[in-house]
Amino acid sequence: MRAGFPDFRLGNVLATSFTGTLSERQGDPVERIPTPQRLIDWLAVYGLAVDSCTPAQLDRARELREAIHAAATAAAIQDPLPAAAVHVINDCSAQGRAAAVLTPEGERRWRLSSASRVEDALGVIAADAISIIAGERDGKLALCASPTCQAAFFDTSQSRTRKWCDMNTCGNRQKKARFNANRSKNPRPAR
Ligand SMILES: [Zn+2]
Repeated sequence: MRAGFPDFRLGNVLATSFTGTLSERQGDPVERIPTPQRLIDWLAVYGLAVDSCTPAQLDRARELREAIHAAATAAAIQDPLPAAAVHVINDCSAQGRAAAVLTPEGERRWRLSSASRVEDALGVIAADAISIIAGERDGKLALCASPTCQAAFFDTSQSRTRKWCDMNTCGNRQKKARFNANRSKNPRPAR
């Protein structure tokens, strides 16, 4: 972590990890990509290295992030998809030029066009969002049970009963809150 910036929350699903760069949306929101450099850092973690990022490109990234959040939330509660969000996702997908490449180890990587443009990386994220919102992937969109979060996440658990976007943050906080509530209800006898 770079001093002074909030840590990233890393998940396995690209699109919903990206929407997780703004957390606690229903409480005190935490912006985890506050500067162009932090977006560059985040993209590098996900194998989408770009050379540079302008403030306008960061704005575009955040616009895509909020569009994915809106569309994924609607999909999770089976509401009609918001047209404006669909438009932004499709635009970003169409503007990206990235190629899937196979490594000798049999893994998929993304190769961005020669200039390593932010738009190419956003195209990959938009395409990932499309695949989960369209139900192309094995899993189910759901909303985090934490009242201050309610982030859309992609549940790939066998039973599809995951409750929290992130076990280490929201899940843990809920568990601690329940533990403390139980403790105050059943205080230990004083010795
Ligand atoms: Zn959450």
